Amino acid sequence: MPAFQENSVLESIIGNENVMGYLLESIKRDRIAKAYLFYGPPSVGKFKTAIAFVAAVLCGEGGCGKCNTCRRVLELKHPDVLVVEGRGKNIPVEVIREIRLSAYLKPVEGKYRFFIIRDAEMLWEEGASTLLKLLEEPPQGSIFILISASIASVMPTLISRCEKVRFTPVPREKIAEMLVKRGIDFNKADLIARVTGGLPGNAIKLADEPWRMERRDTVLRVARALKHADLATILDMAEELYAEIRAPIEEMAVIYKERKQELSDLMDESALKRFAKAIDEEYSQERLREEINGVKEALQILFSWYRDILVMKECNSKEMLVNVDFIQEIESESRVMKEDCVVRIIRSIDDAFKAVDQNVPAQLVLEGALTEIQEAIRA
Ligand SMILES: [Zn+2]
Repeated sequence: MPAFQENSVLESIIGNENVMGYLLESIKRDRIAKAYLFYGPPSVGKFKTAIAFVAAVLCGEGGCGKCNTCRRVLELKHPDVLVVEGRGKNIPVEVIREIRLSAYLKPVEGKYRFFIIRDAEMLWEEGASTLLKLLEEPPQGSIFILISASIASVMPTLISRCEKVRFTPVPREKIAEMLVKRGIDFNKADLIARVTGGLPGNAIKLADEPWRMERRDTVLRVARALKHADLATILDMAEELYAEIRAPIEEMAVIYKERKQELSDLMDESALKRFAKAIDEEYSQERLREEINGVKEALQILFSWYRDILVMKECNSKEMLVNVDFIQEIESESRVMKEDCVVRIIRSIDDAFKAVDQNVPAQLVLEGALTEIQEAIRA
């Protein structure tokens, strides 16, 4: 049994203390399950916890975070840890077959081999049934951690083979505290924590990538301008938002182009053709994923604006607001706007979310949402 240091890497993860406690206990008692399913909202810390858990199991000191073993696990370079994730819509059966091959090999270094499977809801048909057989009779020393942000879409047969570990959003104060420790001033940290609603992964992204806060500024500016806008202006605004969403995707295009260039220096023409095709496919799936995330992010910001107005109308509480940097405007809007109207707007934003999931093109979703909001305001 490993001797435990005061600060295991598991304890350094913020929020979900019950999960960390449970995992630490299972290591201390040497009762590690063969398979886990970590589930809960995206960016809440499931993958980070999985990696920390693996480090805590493999490290001689319960996850010191500093030794050679911990370091390699945390940097995803340990030979006994394999991470796979979905690309596009599914996890191909070939990937699971590769896992099966490694699962029957002895661990390279310690007692265990770990297989972390992100996006477990993308396991279907042959991939899922191949994995299911593995989980039914797991090879000695192999431990599986499935991760999913939408447990409702994970195959029930897979779920039934796993120890279920549920993650919930992290309190706002804890996220703000974490950001302050990373050198961000309190007001900004508090704002980011509010905007990201209990999801530390998103909070870190917002803190590290300034363009995300700039995108928020654009969306909020649009929200505030809607009541005075005519149809032509609304279409312009939708286009502007869409351009914001597209910007990081254009950057991705440059990276993919460079990767293709590198390959062309290394390969002959026929090999290059095959690889180039795979890269193109990966790029188009990544682009789609980024676009969907971008639209949802924009809709989430719009939603937070009208939700704030409603909160202010009903509770008159500043404490519960998301957009605390616009308190005065939210207050004055809450006096002017009728409750029916705000509720109608919130419903139309909800419909827009559904449209994104039904693959309606991003720009159309934005145009539709903005038009409906404006109609509600004018009604
Ligand atoms: Zn260590």
